[in-house]
Amino acid sequence: MLYTLVEAGFEAYLVGGGVRDLLANLKPKDFDIATSAHPEQVKKVFARQCRLIGRRFLIAHVRAGGEIAEVATFRGPITDSHERDETGRILSDNIYGSLETDAFRRDFTVNALYYDIRDYSIIDFADGISDLQRRRLRMIGEPELRYREDPVRMLRAIRVANKLGFEIEPATAEPISRLAPLLGEIPPARLFDEIIKMLLSREARANLDGMRERGLFGILFADTETALAEDARWLRLLHQAAANTAARVENDQPVTPAFLYAALLWPSVALRAQFLACNEGYAPMLALSQAADEVLARQSLRVSIPRRFSTPIREIWLLQPRFDHRHGARAKRLLAHPRFRAAYDFLVLRGASAEPQLAGLADWWTQAQTAKELPPAPADDAAASAPVPKRRSRRRGGRRRRGKKAQD
Ligand code: ATP
Ligand code: MG
Repeated sequence: MLYTLVEAGFEAYLVGGGVRDLLANLKPKDFDIATSAHPEQVKKVFARQCRLIGRRFLIAHVRAGGEIAEVATFRGPITDSHERDETGRILSDNIYGSLETDAFRRDFTVNALYYDIRDYSIIDFADGISDLQRRRLRMIGEPELRYREDPVRMLRAIRVANKLGFEIEPATAEPISRLAPLLGEIPPARLFDEIIKMLLSREARANLDGMRERGLFGILFADTETALAEDARWLRLLHQAAANTAARVENDQPVTPAFLYAALLWPSVALRAQFLACNEGYAPMLALSQAADEVLARQSLRVSIPRRFSTPIREIWLLQPRFDHRHGARAKRLLAHPRFRAAYDFLVLRGASAEPQLAGLADWWTQAQTAKELPPAPADDAAASAPVPKRRSRRRGGRRRRGKKAQD
């Protein structure tokens, strides 16, 4: 792609994570190209291999040999003519520039290294090589200003530093805790993408801890942070979920945001369901279902949760009480449920972390999957931690809720 662009008369460089990771002896996840060609020109050069994507600014996705690269036109300098909101966030951004202006628009010095195929050199305007050697992540320019321009850079600082095993240089780290609330201004869909990058990764645990340490997590997942502060065992659940994710990424197994989100929001759901059951007279299953709806609705105001994930998340939660029934037909129905596997994995996760009283139950279901016959159910079955209501109480709960709605 670089040769194609250069042969067509444009400047083109490899930049960003691709260069950075290669120089740090890591395998790059994807490749980014910076070019003097404008998006329509990139489109013309690559024709059907190219799609223009309009996110905050127009960039080209170019496909070749099974790989996709992001090709972005050199960004121009930030000027007073850029539209900003009252916190300093840049709202519109489509002025093109040169290689040099592009370099100073990037976030960290190690992300602003350009590989030039014409002479196999690295172009380094921001002293990124020296930071790479000293293993430190440093913001280009004045950190506070750069975070205000785009608060997502606070999340990126933690993610990139953890990925490289670098220290965040003190002046780059200092403003983060102070400016954390600015993340509240970012569109929920963009935050969803960033959270996925942070937590569906090998560094999930370090990213989680980093976000919490610097007050970012509390802005994004306020209810979960409250639950964590009240009861330390929930942190075990999140750490275990992060460890599972990391192990799967390590082994090239697929990871889904649904499982991760189910864990992230479970403390709030469990607390809310308990409140509704104990204080508002909801039957247990209804309490759980109502809590799930409330927590998902509240959470998606901050970090969006696409429906293709919220549906399985809800199912994972709502299947949890059904594991208490280990007899005959009910147990067999659960084993055949399309979401059994994810819900079972979640039960194992709970038992192995925050709710050790469930470990025995999880073991039983582990055996049930492989045995020809269901293992014997203990005498106290379905009287365990989260009983499913008997038919009568369920109906009562249902009527009561409808009654309340009518009053409202
Ligand atoms: P990875 O691809 O491994 O997640 P990356 O640094 O390549 O890391 P991308 O999102 O692919 O991350 O971005 C590519 C490059 O674009 C970055 O290296 C950086 O130079 C620049 N960039 C990305 N996001 C920002 C931002 N919010 N502010 C300034 N520059 C950014
Ligand atoms: Mg990249």
